[in-house]
Amino acid sequence: MSRAPAVALLAFALAGAAFAQELPPAEPQAAASTFTPLPAEAIAPLPPPPAPSRVRPEISTDEGGLWGMSERAEQVARASGQLERDPALNAYLRDVACGVAGPYCGDIRLYVMNRPYFNAQMAPNGYMEVWSGLLLRAEDEAQLAFVLGHEIGHYGERHSLAMLRTMRGRANAAMVFSIITAGAGVGVVGDIVYLGTIASVFGFSRENETQADGIGYDHAVAAGYDPQAGQRLWANLLAETRGSDNPDTRREETRASIFRTHPLSADRVEALTARASRSSGGETQRERYRQTIRPFLDGWLRSDLRRRDYGQTALILDRLSAHGEDLGLVEYYRGEINRLRRAEGDRERALEHYTNAIAQPDAPPAAWRELGDYAARDGRNVEAAGFFGAYLERAPNAGDRALIEARLAQLTGGEQ
Ligand SMILES: [Zn+2]
Repeated sequence: MSRAPAVALLAFALAGAAFAQELPPAEPQAAASTFTPLPAEAIAPLPPPPAPSRVRPEISTDEGGLWGMSERAEQVARASGQLERDPALNAYLRDVACGVAGPYCGDIRLYVMNRPYFNAQMAPNGYMEVWSGLLLRAEDEAQLAFVLGHEIGHYGERHSLAMLRTMRGRANAAMVFSIITAGAGVGVVGDIVYLGTIASVFGFSRENETQADGIGYDHAVAAGYDPQAGQRLWANLLAETRGSDNPDTRREETRASIFRTHPLSADRVEALTARASRSSGGETQRERYRQTIRPFLDGWLRSDLRRRDYGQTALILDRLSAHGEDLGLVEYYRGEINRLRRAEGDRERALEHYTNAIAQPDAPPAAWRELGDYAARDGRNVEAAGFFGAYLERAPNAGDRALIEARLAQLTGGEQ
């Protein structure tokens, strides 16, 4: 390798060292997992793993520098306002990760970040991030297990070290470091800058991606998951790239901008499809997955809308409703796309979706408010008052209660 990147990384490691002291010691190996995805007889033996260093390498080495950066990034994640702390969700993800981690289960420290892009990463020190945008896009536990297995594949093969050793120049490295330490992810724009910057330097090679896919596949299938899960997930992401409102994103096509740190290409889907065609059986664990993420769907969809790529959000909604679930929520968000996009015909479509939403038991109260708003603008005052009343009945503690009450009073000539 060239010396320059190692020197640059060493400087980063030293900058990170002060924070590293505050980190908890690495968790003991083979932490007990109470999670059993499938009966034990379904689990086939895995090939012997290569060895990540697992103990902090010498600070003077390039790998030591990489650990320093990782520890600093982990510290930032732990203090981030985007950290999702829900205990049930975190426990579930840890269990799924452990189910496909084999001997590395005890190495993993997993953090869920509320960021609307598809991303997961695992650093050489065992720090793993899973973004809510990934959880929103995975259709089932098998897809999640595959992608976590893929990350563990990068970890086990020490791909980040290989990447570092071919790093394209220290200026890039310095930029990445400054973004990581600036606390990444100040709003959605911050997220995409962060992700794009990391990817510009830390994008894994094609060979590393294919290898990680193979490892993720093997681990997930060995744990009893559906062999088709990985290729379905990648195919969905490619479809989402093609479904983008943004012509630049569509042109990137096979690079799938929503997963920038792991360049995705059609040949990866083909490779996994060929592999999966030789296997059958396995479980998707779709219902268990959906039940776990259901309480978060509303917030994650709201957050996804802030990306303002309505073509992509519409595809997510199609997948979420493919089994006829959460239709009130899905129809409400379809209405939201139309209301916010304001293209020709969107007004009528929004009305239709909100109307569909309120016929479902899980409709968010806001669907009534939006219907009230449209009715009021059309001068249908009695209807509008009915919708606003229904909204306040369902959301008595709404933040905009005073505002809606004022509108109600106006609509009913002050008799309300
Ligand atoms: Zn990857």
